[in-house]
Amino acid sequence: MKIVMLGAPGAGKGTQAAMIAEKYGIPHISTGDIFRFNIKNGTELGKEAKTYMDEGKLVPDELTVRILLDRVSKDDCREGYVLDGFPRTIPQAEVLDGKLREMQDGIDFALDIEVPDEHIVSRMSGRRACLNCGATYHVRYAAPKQEGVCDACGGRLVLRDDDKPETVQKRLEVYHDQTQPLIEYYAGKGVLKKVDGTQELHKVFADIVKILEG
Ligand code: ADP
Ligand code: AMP
Repeated sequence: MKIVMLGAPGAGKGTQAAMIAEKYGIPHISTGDIFRFNIKNGTELGKEAKTYMDEGKLVPDELTVRILLDRVSKDDCREGYVLDGFPRTIPQAEVLDGKLREMQDGIDFALDIEVPDEHIVSRMSGRRACLNCGATYHVRYAAPKQEGVCDACGGRLVLRDDDKPETVQKRLEVYHDQTQPLIEYYAGKGVLKKVDGTQELHKVFADIVKILEG
């Protein structure tokens, strides 16, 4: 099963992708997490990606596509995967489709998590990410057991630099301009499914499971 998560930044793609990955035993692949891992480890890729991420812009397609194709060619991806934050542009989607077509394959579901812009800033300002393992929490909607500490690994929880309100605004603009057209793109391929992302997160997940098992 190959799944693409669509939706604005903060819509809940990562939260739902992690739950899908756990339930169906497929890898959760987040290009944002791959970039943050590289930033943390001071790699050249991380240094280049950071300059774009800090401004709320997209990392160039060429670089992003290269790391994604490399990741999905790994053995653990044979039975499928859930992509979170990729594709974010039509050219990225076309490269992925081209690669899948070579293997007589394709995306099975593109899940669009719908959340209006008005909700996004509060979602993002309350998001806390683990510096160590990348797990995501929310101070109100998905709080860790102990404030500031990751339930999964004990790492320190922080507000991501790009979750500050001024950067969130820019990221929303970039989303509407470059990423939202993917909704039409996947609708045209007959794999688009819409989910109401304003619901409580377990209810969102229940709706997703119905779609995947429908
Ligand atoms: P994305 O991956 O789309 O950027 P996240 O999954 O990181 O979004 O979610 C953004 C923030 O909103 C996180 O702090 C997360 O805990 C919280 N969140 C996710 N889904 C919901 C929901 N259905 N209701 C309320 N808060 C949510
Ligand atoms: P995310 O963790 O998905 O919110 O992504 C954080 C940031 O990483 C984005 O704002 C972009 O700067 C960059 N990024 C992640 N995925 C992509 C992608 N597919 N294309 C371009 N930039 C990306």
